[in-house]
Amino acid sequence: MNKLINEIRSNRNTDRVIKCDVPLDIEMDVRYKGQKSTNIPNLSENTLLRHFTNLSRRNYALSTTFYPLGSCTMKYNPVVNEKIAAFEEFSSVHPYQSEETVQGSLEIMYELEKSLCEVSGMDNFTLQPAAGAHGEYAGLLIIAGYFKSIKEKRTKIIVPDSAHGTNPASAALAGFEIISLKSDENGIVSPENLKAVLTKDVACMMMTVPNTLGVFEKNIAEISEILHQNGSLLYYDGANLNAVMGIVKPADIGFDVMHINLHKTFATPHGGGGPGAGPVGVKAFLKDFLPVPVIVKENNKFKISFGDKKKSIGKMKAFFGNFPVLLKACAYIKALGGAGLKEASEQAVLNANYVLSSLKDKVSIPAGSVCMHEFVLSSKGHLGDGVKTLDVAKKLLDYGYYAPTIYFPLIVEEAMMIEPTETESKQVLDEFTDVLLKIIEESVSNPEILHNAPVNTYVSRLNEVEAARKPKLHW
Ligand SMILES: *Cc1c(COP(=O)(O)O)cnc(C)c1O
Repeated sequence: MNKLINEIRSNRNTDRVIKCDVPLDIEMDVRYKGQKSTNIPNLSENTLLRHFTNLSRRNYALSTTFYPLGSCTMKYNPVVNEKIAAFEEFSSVHPYQSEETVQGSLEIMYELEKSLCEVSGMDNFTLQPAAGAHGEYAGLLIIAGYFKSIKEKRTKIIVPDSAHGTNPASAALAGFEIISLKSDENGIVSPENLKAVLTKDVACMMMTVPNTLGVFEKNIAEISEILHQNGSLLYYDGANLNAVMGIVKPADIGFDVMHINLHKTFATPHGGGGPGAGPVGVKAFLKDFLPVPVIVKENNKFKISFGDKKKSIGKMKAFFGNFPVLLKACAYIKALGGAGLKEASEQAVLNANYVLSSLKDKVSIPAGSVCMHEFVLSSKGHLGDGVKTLDVAKKLLDYGYYAPTIYFPLIVEEAMMIEPTETESKQVLDEFTDVLLKIIEESVSNPEILHNAPVNTYVSRLNEVEAARKPKLHW
Protein backbone atom coordinates (compact mmCIF):
# COMPACT_ATOMS: atom_id res chain seq x y z
CA MET A 1 0.00 0.00 0.00
CA ASN A 2 2.82 2.41 0.85
CA LYS A 3 4.32 1.58 -2.51
CA LEU A 4 1.11 2.69 -4.20
CA ILE A 5 1.00 5.95 -2.30
CA ASN A 6 4.67 6.59 -2.99
CA GLU A 7 4.03 5.96 -6.65
CA ILE A 8 1.35 8.65 -6.64
CA ARG A 9 3.63 11.04 -4.84
CA SER A 10 6.78 10.45 -6.88
CA ASN A 11 7.58 13.17 -9.37
CA ARG A 12 5.76 15.77 -7.33
CA ASN A 13 8.45 18.36 -7.37
CA THR A 14 6.65 20.40 -4.73
CA ASP A 15 7.52 17.59 -2.31
CA ARG A 16 11.10 18.77 -2.49
CA VAL A 17 10.13 22.09 -0.96
CA ILE A 18 7.24 21.19 1.27
CA LYS A 19 7.56 17.79 2.90
CA CYS A 20 4.49 15.63 3.00
CA ASP A 21 2.84 15.72 6.43
CA VAL A 22 0.34 12.93 5.83
CA PRO A 23 1.29 9.59 7.39
CA LEU A 24 2.18 7.01 4.77
CA ASP A 25 0.88 3.97 6.63
CA ILE A 26 -2.84 4.72 6.34
CA GLU A 27 -5.10 1.70 5.90
CA MET A 28 -6.60 1.71 2.43
CA ASP A 29 -10.22 0.84 1.88
CA VAL A 30 -10.50 -2.90 1.38
CA ARG A 31 -12.03 -2.39 -2.07
CA TYR A 32 -8.79 -0.91 -3.40
CA LYS A 33 -6.45 -3.51 -1.95
CA GLY A 34 -4.51 -5.38 -4.56
CA GLN A 35 -4.89 -2.57 -7.04
CA LYS A 36 -1.53 -2.28 -8.74
CA SER A 37 -1.50 1.09 -10.44
CA THR A 38 -3.70 4.13 -10.17
CA ASN A 39 -3.09 5.47 -13.67
CA ILE A 40 -3.36 8.90 -12.09
CA PRO A 41 -0.90 11.26 -13.78
CA ASN A 42 1.94 12.25 -11.50
CA LEU A 43 1.74 15.99 -11.57
CA SER A 44 2.75 18.76 -9.26
CA GLU A 45 0.09 21.06 -7.97
CA ASN A 46 1.29 24.01 -10.02
CA THR A 47 1.30 21.96 -13.24
CA LEU A 48 -2.28 21.01 -12.59
CA LEU A 49 -3.31 24.56 -11.67
CA ARG A 50 -1.72 25.93 -14.84
CA HIS A 51 -3.45 23.30 -16.93
CA PHE A 52 -6.94 24.25 -15.72
CA THR A 53 -6.28 27.98 -15.62
CA ASN A 54 -5.04 27.89 -19.21
CA LEU A 55 -8.05 25.88 -20.29
CA SER A 56 -10.38 28.43 -18.66
CA ARG A 57 -8.60 31.22 -20.53
CA ARG A 58 -9.54 29.67 -23.85
CA ASN A 59 -13.10 30.59 -23.10
CA TYR A 60 -14.98 33.85 -23.11
CA ALA A 61 -16.58 34.89 -19.87
CA LEU A 62 -18.17 37.93 -18.32
CA SER A 63 -15.23 38.08 -15.96
CA THR A 64 -12.88 38.59 -18.90
CA THR A 65 -14.80 40.50 -21.54
CA PHE A 66 -17.93 42.41 -22.58
CA TYR A 67 -20.66 39.96 -23.51
CA PRO A 68 -23.38 41.69 -25.59
CA LEU A 69 -25.32 38.48 -26.31
CA GLY A 70 -28.82 39.69 -27.14
CA SER A 71 -31.76 38.09 -25.34
CA CYS A 72 -29.46 36.59 -22.70
CA THR A 73 -28.97 39.58 -20.36
CA MET A 74 -25.34 38.79 -19.60
CA LYS A 75 -25.04 41.35 -16.83
CA TYR A 76 -22.28 41.41 -14.27
CA ASN A 77 -23.03 39.05 -11.39
CA PRO A 78 -21.98 40.44 -8.02
CA VAL A 79 -19.55 38.05 -6.34
CA VAL A 80 -21.22 38.63 -2.97
CA ASN A 81 -24.19 36.60 -4.24
CA GLU A 82 -21.91 33.63 -4.86
CA LYS A 83 -20.52 33.95 -1.36
CA ILE A 84 -23.98 34.02 0.13
CA ALA A 85 -25.08 30.96 -1.85
CA ALA A 86 -21.98 29.14 -0.60
CA PHE A 87 -22.66 29.81 3.11
CA GLU A 88 -22.51 26.50 4.90
CA GLU A 89 -25.91 27.21 6.44
CA PHE A 90 -27.35 26.91 2.92
CA SER A 91 -25.00 24.55 1.17
CA SER A 92 -25.17 21.84 3.83
CA VAL A 93 -28.92 21.61 4.30
CA HIS A 94 -30.81 18.66 2.90
CA PRO A 95 -34.30 18.90 1.43
CA TYR A 96 -35.43 15.96 3.57
CA GLN A 97 -34.62 17.81 6.79
CA SER A 98 -37.60 18.55 8.98
CA GLU A 99 -39.27 21.92 8.53
CA GLU A 100 -38.23 23.27 11.88
CA THR A 101 -34.53 22.82 11.08
CA VAL A 102 -34.69 24.73 7.77
CA GLN A 103 -36.89 27.67 8.71
CA GLY A 104 -34.34 30.16 7.29
CA SER A 105 -34.15 28.49 3.89
CA LEU A 106 -37.94 28.25 3.69
CA GLU A 107 -38.26 31.90 4.67
CA ILE A 108 -35.87 32.95 1.89
CA MET A 109 -37.91 31.08 -0.72
CA TYR A 110 -41.11 32.52 0.71
CA GLU A 111 -39.61 36.01 0.59
CA LEU A 112 -38.39 35.53 -2.97
CA GLU A 113 -41.88 34.50 -4.04
CA LYS A 114 -43.26 37.65 -2.43
CA SER A 115 -40.63 39.81 -4.16
CA LEU A 116 -41.46 38.29 -7.53
CA CYS A 117 -45.16 38.93 -6.88
CA GLU A 118 -44.29 42.56 -6.15
CA VAL A 119 -42.18 42.95 -9.30
CA SER A 120 -44.73 41.26 -11.58
CA GLY A 121 -48.07 42.07 -9.94
CA MET A 122 -48.94 38.36 -9.99
CA ASP A 123 -50.63 36.83 -6.94
CA ASN A 124 -48.67 33.59 -6.55
CA PHE A 125 -45.43 32.05 -7.72
CA THR A 126 -43.77 28.68 -7.95
CA LEU A 127 -39.98 28.58 -7.83
CA GLN A 128 -39.67 25.01 -9.10
CA PRO A 129 -38.96 25.29 -12.84
CA ALA A 130 -35.26 25.06 -13.67
CA ALA A 131 -35.13 27.29 -16.75
CA GLY A 132 -37.13 29.70 -18.87
CA ALA A 133 -38.35 26.96 -21.20
CA HIS A 134 -39.23 24.78 -18.21
CA GLY A 135 -41.23 27.70 -16.79
CA GLU A 136 -43.09 28.13 -20.09
CA TYR A 137 -43.95 24.44 -20.06
CA ALA A 138 -45.21 24.69 -16.44
CA GLY A 139 -47.23 27.82 -17.27
CA LEU A 140 -48.85 26.14 -20.26
CA LEU A 141 -49.69 23.03 -18.22
CA ILE A 142 -51.38 25.35 -15.71
CA ILE A 143 -53.39 26.91 -18.54
CA ALA A 144 -54.30 23.43 -19.87
CA GLY A 145 -55.36 22.39 -16.34
CA TYR A 146 -57.51 25.49 -15.98
CA PHE A 147 -59.44 24.89 -19.21
CA LYS A 148 -59.87 21.23 -18.32
CA SER A 149 -61.34 22.25 -14.95
CA ILE A 150 -63.92 24.53 -16.57
CA LYS A 151 -64.59 21.86 -19.23
CA GLU A 152 -63.55 23.93 -22.23
CA LYS A 153 -61.73 22.23 -25.06
CA ARG A 154 -59.05 24.65 -26.20
CA THR A 155 -56.25 23.13 -28.21
CA LYS A 156 -54.40 26.04 -29.80
CA ILE A 157 -51.80 28.58 -28.77
CA ILE A 158 -50.92 31.73 -30.67
CA VAL A 159 -47.21 32.58 -30.85
CA PRO A 160 -45.94 35.72 -32.62
CA ASP A 161 -43.29 35.06 -35.29
CA SER A 162 -40.76 37.15 -33.36
CA ALA A 163 -40.92 34.81 -30.35
CA HIS A 164 -38.04 32.90 -28.84
CA GLY A 165 -37.92 29.35 -30.22
CA THR A 166 -38.74 27.91 -26.83
CA ASN A 167 -42.31 29.33 -27.01
CA PRO A 168 -43.61 27.10 -29.83
CA ALA A 169 -41.49 24.21 -28.52
CA SER A 170 -43.02 24.43 -25.02
CA ALA A 171 -46.52 24.78 -26.47
CA ALA A 172 -46.02 21.67 -28.59
CA LEU A 173 -44.65 19.73 -25.62
CA ALA A 174 -47.68 20.73 -23.56
CA GLY A 175 -49.87 19.20 -26.27
CA PHE A 176 -51.07 22.33 -28.06
CA GLU A 177 -51.24 23.18 -31.71
CA ILE A 178 -49.34 26.37 -32.62
CA ILE A 179 -50.67 29.27 -34.64
CA SER A 180 -47.82 31.51 -35.79
CA LEU A 181 -48.79 35.18 -35.83
CA LYS A 182 -47.11 37.54 -38.28
CA SER A 183 -45.67 40.75 -36.82
CA ASP A 184 -46.76 43.98 -38.48
CA GLU A 185 -44.43 46.38 -40.34
CA ASN A 186 -43.26 47.85 -37.00
CA GLY A 187 -42.28 44.44 -35.67
CA ILE A 188 -45.12 44.18 -33.14
CA VAL A 189 -48.40 42.30 -32.81
CA SER A 190 -51.33 44.06 -34.45
CA PRO A 191 -54.87 43.56 -33.11
CA GLU A 192 -56.12 43.06 -36.70
CA ASN A 193 -53.70 40.21 -37.38
CA LEU A 194 -54.69 38.67 -34.05
CA LYS A 195 -58.42 38.84 -34.76
CA ALA A 196 -57.82 37.14 -38.10
CA VAL A 197 -56.46 33.97 -36.44
CA LEU A 198 -58.43 33.95 -33.18
CA THR A 199 -60.91 31.14 -32.79
CA LYS A 200 -62.89 29.71 -29.87
CA ASP A 201 -60.37 26.90 -29.37
CA VAL A 202 -57.43 29.23 -28.63
CA ALA A 203 -56.25 28.65 -25.05
CA CYS A 204 -53.78 31.53 -24.92
CA MET A 205 -51.38 33.79 -26.69
CA MET A 206 -47.75 33.97 -25.62
CA MET A 207 -46.14 37.40 -25.76
CA THR A 208 -42.64 38.59 -25.03
CA VAL A 209 -42.51 42.17 -23.78
CA PRO A 210 -40.32 43.92 -24.79
CA ASN A 211 -40.37 41.58 -27.76
CA THR A 212 -37.31 39.98 -29.30
CA LEU A 213 -36.78 42.99 -31.57
CA GLY A 214 -36.29 45.04 -28.39
CA VAL A 215 -39.59 46.86 -28.89
CA PHE A 216 -42.36 47.41 -26.36
CA GLU A 217 -45.61 46.00 -27.70
CA LYS A 218 -47.87 49.03 -28.08
CA ASN A 219 -51.27 47.33 -28.31
CA ILE A 220 -51.25 45.20 -25.19
CA ALA A 221 -54.42 46.66 -23.66
CA GLU A 222 -56.39 45.98 -26.83
CA ILE A 223 -54.82 42.56 -27.34
CA SER A 224 -55.67 41.60 -23.77
CA GLU A 225 -59.26 42.76 -24.28
CA ILE A 226 -59.66 40.79 -27.52
CA LEU A 227 -58.26 37.59 -26.00
CA HIS A 228 -60.20 37.77 -22.73
CA GLN A 229 -63.44 38.52 -24.61
CA ASN A 230 -62.78 35.28 -26.43
CA GLY A 231 -62.25 33.42 -23.13
CA SER A 232 -58.52 32.99 -23.95
CA LEU A 233 -55.63 33.81 -21.62
CA LEU A 234 -52.51 35.91 -22.07
CA TYR A 235 -49.07 34.48 -21.27
CA TYR A 236 -46.06 36.71 -20.60
CA ASP A 237 -42.62 35.46 -21.55
CA GLY A 238 -40.71 37.39 -18.91
CA ALA A 239 -37.27 36.01 -19.72
CA ASN A 240 -36.22 39.56 -20.54
CA LEU A 241 -37.72 41.55 -17.71
CA ASN A 242 -34.62 43.71 -17.64
CA ALA A 243 -36.28 46.62 -19.41
CA VAL A 244 -39.43 46.81 -17.34
CA MET A 245 -38.74 45.62 -13.79
CA GLY A 246 -39.69 48.34 -11.35
CA ILE A 247 -41.58 50.17 -14.10
CA VAL A 248 -44.38 47.98 -15.50
CA LYS A 249 -46.10 45.04 -13.82
CA PRO A 250 -47.23 42.43 -16.37
CA ALA A 251 -50.29 41.52 -14.26
CA ASP A 252 -51.44 45.16 -14.41
CA ILE A 253 -51.49 45.19 -18.19
CA GLY A 254 -53.61 42.08 -18.67
CA PHE A 255 -51.30 39.08 -18.39
CA ASP A 256 -52.56 36.00 -16.53
CA VAL A 257 -49.48 33.76 -16.36
CA MET A 258 -45.78 34.46 -16.75
CA HIS A 259 -42.33 33.08 -16.18
CA ILE A 260 -39.24 35.01 -15.17
CA ASN A 261 -35.67 33.96 -15.94
CA LEU A 262 -33.86 34.54 -12.68
CA HIS A 263 -30.66 33.64 -14.53
CA LYS A 264 -30.98 36.63 -16.81
CA THR A 265 -32.77 39.50 -15.14
CA PHE A 266 -31.79 38.75 -11.56
CA ALA A 267 -28.08 38.38 -12.10
CA THR A 268 -27.51 34.75 -11.36
CA PRO A 269 -24.83 33.61 -13.79
CA HIS A 270 -25.72 31.34 -16.65
CA GLY A 271 -24.37 30.06 -19.89
CA GLY A 272 -23.07 26.62 -20.67
CA GLY A 273 -26.50 25.21 -20.02
CA GLY A 274 -27.28 26.08 -16.46
CA PRO A 275 -28.18 25.86 -13.71
CA GLY A 276 -31.04 28.31 -13.92
CA ALA A 277 -34.46 29.04 -12.51
CA GLY A 278 -37.67 29.97 -14.30
CA PRO A 279 -40.27 30.76 -11.62
CA VAL A 280 -43.88 30.96 -12.80
CA GLY A 281 -46.36 33.54 -11.55
CA VAL A 282 -50.13 33.41 -11.90
CA LYS A 283 -53.19 35.48 -11.10
CA ALA A 284 -55.21 34.25 -8.12
CA PHE A 285 -57.75 32.29 -10.21
CA LEU A 286 -54.94 29.96 -11.34
CA LYS A 287 -53.33 29.46 -7.93
CA ASP A 288 -54.66 25.94 -7.35
CA PHE A 289 -52.97 24.71 -10.53
CA LEU A 290 -49.44 25.61 -9.39
CA PRO A 291 -46.96 22.80 -8.73
CA VAL A 292 -46.73 21.35 -5.21
CA PRO A 293 -45.36 21.56 -2.60
CA VAL A 294 -45.75 25.22 -1.73
CA ILE A 295 -44.33 27.10 1.23
CA VAL A 296 -46.91 28.66 3.53
CA LYS A 297 -46.55 30.84 6.59
CA GLU A 298 -48.64 29.93 9.64
CA ASN A 299 -48.19 31.49 13.10
CA ASN A 300 -44.81 32.89 12.05
CA LYS A 301 -43.59 29.43 11.05
CA PHE A 302 -42.83 28.32 7.50
CA LYS A 303 -44.40 25.07 6.38
CA ILE A 304 -44.10 22.84 3.34
CA SER A 305 -47.64 22.25 2.19
CA PHE A 306 -49.13 19.92 -0.38
CA GLY A 307 -52.48 21.62 0.15
CA ASP A 308 -55.38 20.39 -1.87
CA LYS A 309 -53.51 18.66 -4.69
CA LYS A 310 -56.54 17.95 -6.84
CA LYS A 311 -55.94 20.67 -9.41
CA SER A 312 -52.16 21.02 -9.16
CA ILE A 313 -50.09 20.14 -12.22
CA GLY A 314 -47.90 18.15 -9.78
CA LYS A 315 -44.17 18.43 -9.38
CA MET A 316 -42.00 20.17 -11.97
CA LYS A 317 -38.67 19.49 -10.30
CA ALA A 318 -37.32 17.63 -7.32
CA PHE A 319 -37.96 19.49 -4.05
CA PHE A 320 -37.85 23.28 -4.55
CA GLY A 321 -35.90 23.78 -7.75
CA ASN A 322 -32.35 25.07 -7.98
CA PHE A 323 -31.96 26.47 -4.49
CA PRO A 324 -28.54 28.18 -4.93
CA VAL A 325 -29.88 30.04 -7.97
CA LEU A 326 -32.86 31.18 -5.92
CA LEU A 327 -30.52 32.39 -3.18
CA LYS A 328 -28.45 34.47 -5.60
CA ALA A 329 -31.53 36.06 -7.13
CA CYS A 330 -32.97 36.82 -3.71
CA ALA A 331 -29.69 38.41 -2.59
CA TYR A 332 -29.63 40.52 -5.75
CA ILE A 333 -33.23 41.71 -5.31
CA LYS A 334 -32.68 42.55 -1.64
CA ALA A 335 -29.45 44.41 -2.41
CA LEU A 336 -31.05 46.59 -5.08
CA GLY A 337 -34.50 47.04 -3.59
CA GLY A 338 -37.43 48.41 -5.58
CA ALA A 339 -35.72 51.67 -6.49
CA GLY A 340 -32.53 49.87 -7.49
CA LEU A 341 -34.38 47.44 -9.78
CA LYS A 342 -36.06 50.36 -11.50
CA GLU A 343 -32.72 52.10 -11.93
CA ALA A 344 -31.20 48.92 -13.38
CA SER A 345 -33.99 48.80 -16.00
CA GLU A 346 -33.53 52.46 -16.85
CA GLN A 347 -29.78 52.09 -17.18
CA ALA A 348 -30.17 48.94 -19.32
CA VAL A 349 -32.50 50.81 -21.68
CA LEU A 350 -30.21 53.84 -21.77
CA ASN A 351 -27.13 51.73 -22.56
CA ALA A 352 -28.92 49.90 -25.37
CA ASN A 353 -30.11 53.17 -26.90
CA TYR A 354 -26.62 54.61 -26.60
CA VAL A 355 -25.10 51.73 -28.56
CA LEU A 356 -27.96 51.85 -31.07
CA SER A 357 -27.44 55.56 -31.70
CA SER A 358 -23.69 55.06 -32.25
CA LEU A 359 -24.36 52.41 -34.91
CA LYS A 360 -27.55 53.50 -36.61
CA ASP A 361 -25.96 55.40 -39.51
CA LYS A 362 -23.83 52.43 -40.57
CA VAL A 363 -26.40 49.60 -40.42
CA SER A 364 -30.19 49.21 -40.71
CA ILE A 365 -32.37 49.14 -37.61
CA PRO A 366 -35.60 47.55 -38.85
CA ALA A 367 -37.62 48.24 -35.69
CA GLY A 368 -36.82 51.96 -35.57
CA SER A 369 -34.33 54.17 -33.81
CA VAL A 370 -35.56 53.77 -30.22
CA CYS A 371 -35.31 50.47 -28.35
CA MET A 372 -35.82 48.98 -24.91
CA HIS A 373 -32.99 46.95 -23.30
CA GLU A 374 -31.72 45.49 -26.57
CA PHE A 375 -32.01 46.01 -30.30
CA VAL A 376 -31.68 44.12 -33.55
CA LEU A 377 -29.67 45.50 -36.44
CA SER A 378 -29.47 44.22 -39.98
CA SER A 379 -26.13 44.42 -41.75
CA LYS A 380 -27.71 43.54 -45.11
CA GLY A 381 -26.40 45.95 -47.75
CA HIS A 382 -23.82 47.46 -45.41
CA LEU A 383 -20.98 44.97 -45.69
CA GLY A 384 -18.34 44.37 -48.34
CA ASP A 385 -18.26 41.76 -51.08
CA GLY A 386 -19.65 38.43 -49.92
CA VAL A 387 -19.29 39.34 -46.24
CA LYS A 388 -22.05 38.07 -43.95
CA THR A 389 -23.09 38.85 -40.39
CA LEU A 390 -21.44 35.58 -39.37
CA ASP A 391 -18.07 36.95 -40.58
CA VAL A 392 -18.53 40.13 -38.55
CA ALA A 393 -19.32 38.07 -35.45
CA LYS A 394 -16.19 35.95 -36.00
CA LYS A 395 -14.05 39.07 -36.46
CA LEU A 396 -15.32 40.47 -33.15
CA LEU A 397 -13.75 37.43 -31.46
CA ASP A 398 -10.37 38.53 -32.83
CA TYR A 399 -10.81 41.85 -31.08
CA GLY A 400 -11.51 40.07 -27.80
CA TYR A 401 -15.29 40.50 -27.66
CA TYR A 402 -17.94 37.89 -27.28
CA ALA A 403 -20.16 38.15 -30.38
CA PRO A 404 -23.75 39.35 -30.14
CA THR A 405 -26.58 36.97 -30.96
CA ILE A 406 -26.77 36.55 -34.74
CA TYR A 407 -29.47 35.44 -37.19
CA PHE A 408 -32.14 35.84 -34.51
CA PRO A 409 -34.95 36.81 -34.54
CA LEU A 410 -35.55 34.97 -37.78
CA ILE A 411 -37.71 37.75 -39.22
CA VAL A 412 -34.71 40.07 -39.69
CA GLU A 413 -32.24 39.27 -42.47
CA GLU A 414 -28.57 39.25 -41.46
CA ALA A 415 -29.65 40.04 -37.92
CA MET A 416 -27.36 40.94 -35.05
CA MET A 417 -28.98 41.33 -31.66
CA ILE A 418 -27.14 43.46 -29.12
CA GLU A 419 -27.90 43.68 -25.41
CA PRO A 420 -25.32 45.68 -23.46
CA THR A 421 -27.06 45.48 -20.03
CA GLU A 422 -26.88 48.09 -17.28
CA THR A 423 -23.59 46.94 -15.80
CA GLU A 424 -21.31 48.22 -18.58
CA SER A 425 -19.68 51.65 -18.55
CA LYS A 426 -19.80 54.24 -21.34
CA GLN A 427 -16.12 53.55 -21.98
CA VAL A 428 -16.73 49.84 -22.62
CA LEU A 429 -19.67 50.63 -24.90
CA ASP A 430 -17.61 53.20 -26.85
CA GLU A 431 -14.75 50.77 -27.32
CA PHE A 432 -17.15 48.08 -28.52
CA THR A 433 -18.97 50.28 -31.03
CA ASP A 434 -15.64 51.64 -32.34
CA VAL A 435 -14.52 48.09 -33.01
CA LEU A 436 -17.80 47.09 -34.64
CA LEU A 437 -17.71 50.14 -36.93
CA LYS A 438 -14.09 49.40 -37.80
CA ILE A 439 -15.02 45.83 -38.75
CA ILE A 440 -17.85 47.08 -40.96
CA GLU A 441 -15.34 49.38 -42.72
CA GLU A 442 -12.82 46.56 -43.06
CA SER A 443 -15.51 44.41 -44.65
CA VAL A 444 -15.50 46.85 -47.56
CA SER A 445 -11.79 47.72 -47.72
CA ASN A 446 -10.45 44.22 -47.07
CA PRO A 447 -13.23 41.58 -47.11
CA GLU A 448 -10.70 38.73 -47.15
CA ILE A 449 -9.67 39.27 -43.51
CA LEU A 450 -13.25 38.83 -42.41
CA HIS A 451 -13.68 35.60 -44.31
CA ASN A 452 -10.68 34.16 -42.46
CA ALA A 453 -11.59 35.38 -38.99
CA PRO A 454 -11.02 34.53 -36.24
CA VAL A 455 -7.25 34.19 -36.34
CA ASN A 456 -6.38 35.19 -32.77
CA THR A 457 -8.44 32.54 -30.98
CA TYR A 458 -7.29 29.06 -29.91
CA VAL A 459 -9.25 27.46 -32.69
CA SER A 460 -10.16 29.19 -35.92
CA ARG A 461 -13.41 28.75 -37.79
CA LEU A 462 -15.02 25.43 -37.05
CA ASN A 463 -17.51 23.35 -38.93
CA GLU A 464 -20.31 24.38 -36.57
CA VAL A 465 -22.52 21.39 -37.31
CA GLU A 466 -19.67 18.95 -36.57
CA ALA A 467 -18.69 20.94 -33.49
CA ALA A 468 -22.21 20.56 -32.08
CA ARG A 469 -22.89 16.98 -33.21
CA LYS A 470 -19.46 15.42 -32.79
CA PRO A 471 -17.58 17.58 -30.32
CA LYS A 472 -13.96 16.68 -29.62
CA LEU A 473 -13.85 16.89 -25.88
CA HIS A 474 -10.29 15.66 -25.31
CA TRP A 475 -7.03 15.50 -27.15
C1 LIG B 1 -33.77 32.94 -22.80
C2 LIG B 1 -35.17 33.04 -23.24
C3 LIG B 1 -36.05 31.94 -23.06
C4 LIG B 1 -35.60 30.58 -22.59
O1 LIG B 1 -34.96 30.55 -21.36
P1 LIG B 1 -34.03 29.28 -20.96
O2 LIG B 1 -33.68 29.50 -19.55
O3 LIG B 1 -32.85 29.35 -21.89
O4 LIG B 1 -34.81 28.05 -21.19
C5 LIG B 1 -37.37 32.11 -23.42
N1 LIG B 1 -37.81 33.27 -23.93
C6 LIG B 1 -37.00 34.34 -24.12
C7 LIG B 1 -37.56 35.61 -24.66
C8 LIG B 1 -35.65 34.26 -23.77
O5 LIG B 1 -34.84 35.30 -23.97
